[in-house]
Amino acid sequence: MDLYTPLKKFFGFNKFKGLQEQVIKSIVENNNTFVIMPTGGGKSLCYQLPALMTEGTAIVVSPLIALMKNQVDAIRGISEHNGVAHVLNSSLNKTEVAQVKEDITNGITKLLYVAPESLIKEEYVTFLRTQKISFVAIDEAHCISEWGHDFRPEYRNLKHIIKAIDNVPVICLTATATEKVQEDILKTLGIPEANRFKASFNRPNLFYEVRPKTKEVEKDIIRFVKQRMGKSGIIYCLSRKKVEEVAQILQVNGIKAVPYHAGLDAKTRVKHQDMFLMEDCDVVVATIAFGMGIDKPDVRFVIHHDIPKSLESYYQETGRAGRDDGEGYCLAFYAYKDIEKLEKFMASKPVAEQEIGHALLQEVVGYAETSMNRRKYLLHYFGEEFDAEHGDGADMDDNSRNPKKKHEAKEDVQLLLNVVKKTLQ
Ligand code: ADP
Ligand code: MG
Repeated sequence: MDLYTPLKKFFGFNKFKGLQEQVIKSIVENNNTFVIMPTGGGKSLCYQLPALMTEGTAIVVSPLIALMKNQVDAIRGISEHNGVAHVLNSSLNKTEVAQVKEDITNGITKLLYVAPESLIKEEYVTFLRTQKISFVAIDEAHCISEWGHDFRPEYRNLKHIIKAIDNVPVICLTATATEKVQEDILKTLGIPEANRFKASFNRPNLFYEVRPKTKEVEKDIIRFVKQRMGKSGIIYCLSRKKVEEVAQILQVNGIKAVPYHAGLDAKTRVKHQDMFLMEDCDVVVATIAFGMGIDKPDVRFVIHHDIPKSLESYYQETGRAGRDDGEGYCLAFYAYKDIEKLEKFMASKPVAEQEIGHALLQEVVGYAETSMNRRKYLLHYFGEEFDAEHGDGADMDDNSRNPKKKHEAKEDVQLLLNVVKKTLQ
């Protein structure tokens, strides 16, 4: 089957990126399919192209309403009919819902974006059962698994919905999945091993460093940023209060920085985000509320003032640096007492959740305290073996540039053993 003509016709691209072609072949042959590609890898096209090529409507499940709207607008831009893509959610009125249904029935709609909580509505399921559905795509599929860092209970029901909609093929896509999460998804949705497509997670242009966090951490950050005056960067903090504090300290020191967190009103958030994108400021100091869907290609550094709660989060957040394949410096400040703080936050959660949270945190400790090649450690976490001598980006971390002395390495082994012991307890 010719995939290049539609690729050119709908998207204007001449070539597929990475594993896209194999993935799309698997989907157009009606196979349940699993795709793991890092952020920016080109996952959307993996379901958009087959949806546009085949008869019927593809249902796309995504947890992020803002991102769904962006995608719908983009798809509408490549077709003469507005109805080619729709979003179905609780914000639509009756007339709008009727229009969506009509376009689906008439075979005009190729992509229907739905939030998981809307898709489980009886009314929609009943309607969709009677329609020609080409496949269901589940974006951010790690939300299905309790072992993921972003588990969403609504995602668990999806398998029943898919069954109800006449067992159509399903394609799951994610950028962050450990082996455990992957197996959970494969099993839950009945995807055969042979249809798991996994791209490498290695980002050879990113430099990884972990520094001990002392009382001087803000001074360290100022020094680091000042050496890169005028360059774009993100500084992540755990709390809103810390975000405000750090942003202020940077401003006082002549650095163009703005704060970003969910406690700011929507207008200020948009303003600060735009300032960053338009380069009216250099640095955004933010909580994890910042970043999803932000595609600034020349972010030169990502600093973690506080260590995140999982290596998935760390990989995702640092992944925002160096999208253009230029320099991307990832610097994390680490103190064990921050881990204890994170443990305390979990104390009120159900025991099962606490156990998972604890296990994820121990991996963070392992990463921060290792004397190994950090890229190797990170990639191993994602089930990928990295050649620390000859791999792409092999010397792009603090440990490879400055190997620790033997006795320190021994202490590391001891620390690692402690971590293992704690995890097993
Ligand atoms: P992901 O969802 O994996 O993070 P996206 O689907 O948002 O990634 O795609 C990231 C970028 O890659 C987009 O700007 C998209 O237009 C671009 N892209 C996707 N496929 C191709 C391709 N075959 N050739 C060139 N650019 C592509
Ligand atoms: Mg995506």
